[in-house]
Amino acid sequence: MLGHDPKAKHDHHDLTIPSACTSCGGDLELRLVPGGSHAYCISCKWLSRPRVTVRNGIMQVAQPLLAEA
Ligand SMILES: [Zn+2]
Repeated sequence: MLGHDPKAKHDHHDLTIPSACTSCGGDLELRLVPGGSHAYCISCKWLSRPRVTVRNGIMQVAQPLLAEA
């Protein structure tokens, strides 16, 4: 055992977007993983899969709209 290799398992990025929850306005924990992203609201526990794109070095997060019946 040589200890953990930071390159081996650290293939995701976590960040927090303040007041970004479209459901309650709470802080959103965003996890970027290869092939997608997951968002989790700290306040209301709402889970979503936003579409994250990076254009000219600016990250854009597109939240899927909640369906209205
Ligand atoms: Zn929320």
